[in-house]
Amino acid sequence: MKGIEPILENNRKWVEEKRAADPDFFNRLANGQKPQYLFIGCSDSRVPAASITGTGPGQMFVHRNIANMVVNTDYNLLSVLQYAVEVLGVEDILVVGHYGCGGVAAAAGNKQYGLIDGWLTNIRDVIRVHDAEISAIADEETRLRRLVELNVIEQVRNLAKTNIIQNARKGAKPPRLHGLVYDIKEGLLKDLKVEDDLQGKLKEIYRTSAAGH
Ligand SMILES: [Zn+2]
Repeated sequence: MKGIEPILENNRKWVEEKRAADPDFFNRLANGQKPQYLFIGCSDSRVPAASITGTGPGQMFVHRNIANMVVNTDYNLLSVLQYAVEVLGVEDILVVGHYGCGGVAAAAGNKQYGLIDGWLTNIRDVIRVHDAEISAIADEETRLRRLVELNVIEQVRNLAKTNIIQNARKGAKPPRLHGLVYDIKEGLLKDLKVEDDLQGKLKEIYRTSAAGH
């Protein structure tokens, strides 16, 4: 079999299996979604959101881009975030980076790749902010692994900077923010525990209120 044939064949098998195990499975999903999670991950094919988290259809809203970035002018990300928070009412937002990220490695180098160079600049900003720590790590792999973690931490901060999260935090059930790193070699997710990291001076710099509040 070639092309998309295997995919269509797998899909038919999957439908049969699901229907056999739970005849109401598709009817239930057709009625709407109320996912608990928003997953913001890398587009890398080795980091499939559903498989590594054990979630099924209806449980996780997903946004993926190169190097799991939360760019505050990215209307794609912001639209996903606003819908997830304000309409779906997700309870947990996960920024999931992964060791061995090609986007992070490219940003750590100085080669031009074309259009993507502008996107990678956002990761170079993370390098600039954490230059003292990153430069002090002699081993390249260790340095890149730490940069992957710092990038996740900064993307969680970028979430906290958005007016979407700031406004949600004034409400009754603000979503919890999480930063995780997936280890492709081991298959394990590590919680970096960066929730509510935007405090003190940083919080004051990025704090905004709607007019009249
Ligand atoms: Zn990646």
